Amino acid sequence: MDEFRLIERFFRRDSKSSEVVVGIGDDGAVVKSGINEQTVLVTDTLVAGVHFPERTAPQDLGYKLLAVNLSDLAAMGATPNWFLLNLVMPDADESWLQGFSTGLFSLAEEYSVALIGGDTARGPLCVSATVGGHVRSGTALRRNGAQVGDQLWISGTLGDAAIGLDLLGGVLGATGEDMDYLVGRLNRPKPRIELGLSLGAVATSGIDISDGLLADLGHILKESGALGAIVDVSCLPLSPQAIGACGESLAREKALTGGDDYEICFTANPAQRSQIEQLRHNCNVKLTCIGSIRTLAGIGLTGADNLDLTGIKPGYRHDWL
Ligand SMILES: [Mg+2]
Repeated sequence: MDEFRLIERFFRRDSKSSEVVVGIGDDGAVVKSGINEQTVLVTDTLVAGVHFPERTAPQDLGYKLLAVNLSDLAAMGATPNWFLLNLVMPDADESWLQGFSTGLFSLAEEYSVALIGGDTARGPLCVSATVGGHVRSGTALRRNGAQVGDQLWISGTLGDAAIGLDLLGGVLGATGEDMDYLVGRLNRPKPRIELGLSLGAVATSGIDISDGLLADLGHILKESGALGAIVDVSCLPLSPQAIGACGESLAREKALTGGDDYEICFTANPAQRSQIEQLRHNCNVKLTCIGSIRTLAGIGLTGADNLDLTGIKPGYRHDWL
């Protein structure tokens, strides 16, 4: 049973609480907290050997745990405020804890996010955080607002983290500088908080890319009413380091299916194009139009003439046999 079926079957219930504005099924939940403001809640867990290689440096793990949660808040267009931390560890290694907390708080301080509680337990290494933020009432960026004719946009570059993971596993090779860049993209993703805060005015829907573009775009299309999209593979933004490490063809495949990029995928009416161009400068992030939303369900690929995409899997999902 995969994670989505599992949630649908056992955990999705009609909410009985009038406090819940957005429940299960988006990057975060939204609950009432005042007349003009709503609270946005996200949570994410990283398991050793599943979400990160066991030898990942503790500084990187601390940073990444908060970064992946902040990325979900960014995808909701929320301002981060505080977080809860849960640590399951085989032993209390002081140098590991020093490194983990240093990485964690380096990012927490950058966004003025306060640690307000949590839990620790002994067991196999697994770290989890729940982060709270806020939006102006009714302005949370949802997955369900894409419209036919909208343009499809992506921040930054795609595929770097998946290539970084292959470099660590010895599947691919790269020069020292390229290796540092690509592994850095895997271990230290940049949460696009500033972009998320600006998207409320222009975007119709948004999601962060954690499981791969095709998989996560699929969530926008499903939640927006079984719409479809056409993606121009030749437009996918790639870093020169990604192309250098594995060649353009494999880099494009990684951009479609690789996880852990934590870039924002969003849709917007074509009339918003000039405002989006402006966001590139205001938020200092590359933004690329990669396709559009259409009525025909599913994701169609163009510009992939030289690529062999037979047998590609759309993205990562947890499965229980
Ligand atoms: Mg997400």
